[in-house]
Amino acid sequence: MNFPDLHNHLYGSISADTLYEIGKRNPNPRWNLFTDLHKKIYGKEIRTESFFRDYKDIEDFRNLYFFNKPAPFIEFQSKFNLIIALSKFDEEEIRYVAKEIVSAHAKQGINFAEYRIMYPPSATKEVYFSKTIAAIDGIYQGEISVNKAIQARLVVSLHRDGDYFQQYQWLKELMNQNELVKNYLVGVDFCYIEEGFPPREKKEFFKKILEDNQEYPETALSILYHVGESFSDKTPKSAVRWVGESAIWGAHRLGHCISLGINPESFANKIIQEKVSERIDQIEFEIKYYEKLKSLGATTDYSKLQKELELLKQKNSEDKISFSIDKRYIDEIYTMQEFTMFLIKEESNSTIECCPTSNLLIGMLSEIKNHPIRRFQNNNLRITISSDDPGIFDTNIKKEYELAATAGLSLDELEEIKKLSSTYTSEKLSGRK
Ligand SMILES: [Zn+2]
Repeated sequence: MNFPDLHNHLYGSISADTLYEIGKRNPNPRWNLFTDLHKKIYGKEIRTESFFRDYKDIEDFRNLYFFNKPAPFIEFQSKFNLIIALSKFDEEEIRYVAKEIVSAHAKQGINFAEYRIMYPPSATKEVYFSKTIAAIDGIYQGEISVNKAIQARLVVSLHRDGDYFQQYQWLKELMNQNELVKNYLVGVDFCYIEEGFPPREKKEFFKKILEDNQEYPETALSILYHVGESFSDKTPKSAVRWVGESAIWGAHRLGHCISLGINPESFANKIIQEKVSERIDQIEFEIKYYEKLKSLGATTDYSKLQKELELLKQKNSEDKISFSIDKRYIDEIYTMQEFTMFLIKEESNSTIECCPTSNLLIGMLSEIKNHPIRRFQNNNLRITISSDDPGIFDTNIKKEYELAATAGLSLDELEEIKKLSSTYTSEKLSGRK
């Protein structure tokens, strides 16, 4: 027992039973958010007028809600949309949900948790204030309800394309006004679709947070960053680089990082495209670290990289280039992964959050034995094991550790990860005083 769970999303942690109750109490569920996508994917009409009678048997409701078989991301989204449709997401409900989840997780043996919450893109300062206060109130009440058998904290997930500088300032302002928020709000996160949002765009933002953390350690916030989870817009090498860049630019914890350790053979014989601008970034990275990369395995020749770079600089940066993944390219992906793991270990303090069920079901792993956690461990990376959206995935932290064992980790290693995870909390990584 006594598991830390550092990566989970508050609303994705809602159990089927709680979600059913929330929906039943909601006078105006936003049905079409769920029913349209459900029909598109499963071809089945949902009768909204008799919904709570049709799904009165909680087993039927669970079947509708759980995402527990590997399937494309869109199916996961359709399940998540059931949460969005049934919930009001007002302050009262947020408080209730937070309290329920914290106390349920304490009973499952979690003794430390960080929960992420995300507001709509259009949320105003008032919304950031009132919902953050509500979530933290609920978390606090949850802790009290189990006599503090769990310590729980909040992280706010920001939109990758939103005004995150502004929203961050609001959160800092709120922390300075409200003692409970100051103590319980511990980080900011970026999640949801990552394609199209290179970490380069967040470099200045990360820098600002890290400087503020030095100057105002009593309100220091961690930077959490989902990266390398899905990467259909670029080559596997660039997807590895994104993880490395996020780490060296200061993200304290990195969510998933499948690209960093996935078996490169899984890309064999595929043809993959990326933009000219992405390719230029990749070549510049390979040139910068050429000697070390070369010492670790197959790389593209220095002169070849330089020539290609000259040619690409004449092209439109939005144009696409195709790569066919042959044996040579697979070896180069492997080298790139080994090097980037070295970089993360030696040149950053970043910790990797592995969420086995989530990675198995929506990642690109065909079976849990292919989970990169074994490779991460072989490379002595800082890792932690988490449950991500345990409500939708029908999982819990204990099952996640069991899956990590199936992926090849020994019980001693799992014990060690569990123990070290308590040193990877947002408060510790951000230098909170
Ligand atoms: Zn997540």
